[in-house]
Amino acid sequence: MRILIVEDEHKIAGAIKRGLEQEAYAVDVAYEADDGLSSALTGDYDVIILDRMLPGLIEGVEIAKEVRANGLHTPILMLTAKDQIADRVAGLNAGADDYLVKPFAFEELLARVRALLRRPQEHQGNTLGLDDLTLDTVSFEVKRAGRRLELSQKEFALLEYLLRNQNRVLSKDNLIAHVWDYDADVLPNTVEVYVGYLRNKIDRPFSGPALLHTVRGFGYKLGIE
Ligand code: CA
Repeated sequence: MRILIVEDEHKIAGAIKRGLEQEAYAVDVAYEADDGLSSALTGDYDVIILDRMLPGLIEGVEIAKEVRANGLHTPILMLTAKDQIADRVAGLNAGADDYLVKPFAFEELLARVRALLRRPQEHQGNTLGLDDLTLDTVSFEVKRAGRRLELSQKEFALLEYLLRNQNRVLSKDNLIAHVWDYDADVLPNTVEVYVGYLRNKIDRPFSGPALLHTVRGFGYKLGIE
């Protein structure tokens, strides 16, 4: 899951980025509104964390409006310094899905990000699953056939994205866009390597049906065939 932070305060942006990266999210930061807007419009993000007050010509509310005007449904969490009803309403009316008043505890931000990621898929709680494979997005526990699997952070992130998009064919470009951050130097070959690692852990050792499939010429699919 890839997250964009649009926040001009470097300290806050850095703290959020580090915290989210520890939770296995890929995170990019834009410190300026126009940067933030153009990044948001790429559509590569699964959640956008948007500061309401940004220096320059456009502020958070305008960015949210512009994102929605471009037909993007990416969940937006707006950060606001003021706890004024009018401010919250302006943010929500502009297309934000939720808001958080500064200062906030990182745990609350994390809980809200998780809720936004959960919303469209209507998954039960924090557990994603397919057949006898389960992934807990909070405890990071991954199990198949009751056995606990040890995944690296990137393997976990890849599996989480595949589980949230199960039965869909995902191209390597799509996986790169949602699992790695912008600074990561990722080649299509890297995706193949990680899919290989993941397959060795979630499929190879088990007698149950194969879950991770290569769709030749298109990409990969997690599902039961
Ligand atoms: Ca700000």
